[in-house]
Amino acid sequence: MPYRVGLIGWPVDHSLSPRMQNAAFAALDLDWEYVLLPVPPGEVEKAVRELAARGFRGVNVTVPHKEAVMPCLSCVTAAARAIGAVNTVVVEKDGRLLGENTDWTGFLTALRESGFDPEGRRALLLGAGGAARAVAYALACSGAPVVVLNRTLERAEALVSDLSAVVPNSALQAGPLEPAVLVREAARADLLVNATSVGMWPHCGESPWPDDLPMPAHLVVLDLVYRPLETKLLRQAREAGAQGVDGVGMLVHQGARAFEYWTGRPAPVEVMRATCYQALKKGGLCSDS
Ligand code: NAP
Repeated sequence: MPYRVGLIGWPVDHSLSPRMQNAAFAALDLDWEYVLLPVPPGEVEKAVRELAARGFRGVNVTVPHKEAVMPCLSCVTAAARAIGAVNTVVVEKDGRLLGENTDWTGFLTALRESGFDPEGRRALLLGAGGAARAVAYALACSGAPVVVLNRTLERAEALVSDLSAVVPNSALQAGPLEPAVLVREAARADLLVNATSVGMWPHCGESPWPDDLPMPAHLVVLDLVYRPLETKLLRQAREAGAQGVDGVGMLVHQGARAFEYWTGRPAPVEVMRATCYQALKKGGLCSDS
């Protein structure tokens, strides 16, 4: 019987993780399988407690369970605690459950891979949800001053207050996601990260950047949204002459880190990346896959 890992979330059927992780297991000839575990809200504690007995070596956790899963675990890393979310659970041989967040390291690896070293560079982060908290933590830990803009200002303020308390020497500020503020802050920033869900399929015609305002060409623009591969924001960046970075790198590296926690083996990152691009390109620029 193969070792099993999987994805806990609700819904989970659009996830690329099974294809990406199963391609990685096949590439290393490992007898492991990655399965989908749809778990309705309110049932995460039961699902997590049954993991060891059901032969699981670990799981990824996605919306809406990334926070709710934390009290069910034996131990949560300092990073996951600071971010306030767990996206990877490791089932130890003795049945203990360890919680980690691989979104922040996945983001940082993808950002550095694009040629951008965040240390001392000004970052403008859009969004204050779970993904934004991981990105803000990664940037703050890397010594980047970060301005966080969000539609709901209170969530940006809470993010800044929470992370300022746990990341020494961080320089985080909050503001509203409004065109005038966005354009003013973008002019002073080196990096723009979209961690809102704006532009995500099926709303491919939307962008957090206003239509009628030019985007500064000096920016590096990383969009966490990877479906479609080229979001409207990335198209605006390309048309302005700015460097655009899609969200696949973060997806691949968060998955690769989880793979390494579970198997103890280096992840075949290029196999995982090729699998994701193949799946996302199959359906065209603005279609689900
Ligand atoms: P989330 O917790 O639900 O947060 C959603 C964020 O988007 C919030 O800041 C929300 O603002 C904002 N938002 C939603 N609709 C908006 C609108 N119409 N106008 C302005 N802001 C809006 O979601 P999440 O888990 O952080 O994920 C955010 C995005 O990142 C998703 O598209 C997800 O697929 C992507 N993601 C990608 C990766 C990757 O590996 N590439 C990893 C994680 C997530 P309010 O606070 O005002 O509601």
